[in-house]
Amino acid sequence: MLWGIDLGGTKIEGAVVDPSDGRILLRRRIATEQEGGYEHIVRRIGLLVAEMERETGRRRPARIGIGTPGAFDPQLRAMKNCNTTCLNGRNLPEDVRAELGVEIEMANDANCFALAEALHGAARGRETVFGVIMGTGVGGGIVVHGRVLQGCHGIAGEWGHNVLHEGGEPCYCGKRGCVEKYLSGPGVERQFHQRTGRRLACAEIAAAAESGDPDARAAIDTLCQDFGRALAVVIDILDPHAIVLGGGVGNIADLYTRGRDAVLPWLFNPRLDAPILRPMLGDSAGVLGAALLAA
Ligand SMILES: [Zn+2]
Repeated sequence: MLWGIDLGGTKIEGAVVDPSDGRILLRRRIATEQEGGYEHIVRRIGLLVAEMERETGRRRPARIGIGTPGAFDPQLRAMKNCNTTCLNGRNLPEDVRAELGVEIEMANDANCFALAEALHGAARGRETVFGVIMGTGVGGGIVVHGRVLQGCHGIAGEWGHNVLHEGGEPCYCGKRGCVEKYLSGPGVERQFHQRTGRRLACAEIAAAAESGDPDARAAIDTLCQDFGRALAVVIDILDPHAIVLGGGVGNIADLYTRGRDAVLPWLFNPRLDAPILRPMLGDSAGVLGAALLAA
């Protein structure tokens, strides 16, 4: 059995997974209580694993996978880019290893999403997979031959902070015009508000576009164009065999048709054969992917 932990800003989720088919045999969650600080979060992970032992009647395995926000920098041995900010600068895998007394395999949440969808979801059987979560932010992960590509700096797949529009919207990362400022839910909503003065949630904009609202149609059109241009860069470099789109923005149907078409003018190839897929695993992808890290 594989054990995985998905560490989020509000909840910590644990799962026990059957490695043969990716079936989740046990799933437990507790509150992160991040206001309690870093050491408290590490102890909460310990509590959750102890509870999983009680529930299953089994001892914890020798290795556990953990999905986290942000990334672990293998050079600095420290977390970075976490929106749960007390994690930043800390050696989370080492501290969790000490807390649990087991080996830790860690990757960020987008990597876990990509791994789960590549092994047991929409992109099962594909050699190279680019998985993206287009939600509150934009994160990406790369899976090659069933393994997460972490990279030299631990940022492999971090598509969200590639610059899409030079001199564009300022981003918290310090640059301007990042992919995340245009392809995230808040990005779509901000642009729609700037253009129309109307405040609608991303899903409402997509629904309005479907019912013919011209402003909303223009917003979805812009989204598709930006998506195509940004994704072409990834495909030129990685040339994945499949792309999986998660997150709320990934639900927008036009991305799979017009968004896909918008890749071609920017691509160094006359055709795009790699499928752009909807995810299959829903909200269990994160914790499933974390467990699969331990394989
Ligand atoms: Zn940025």
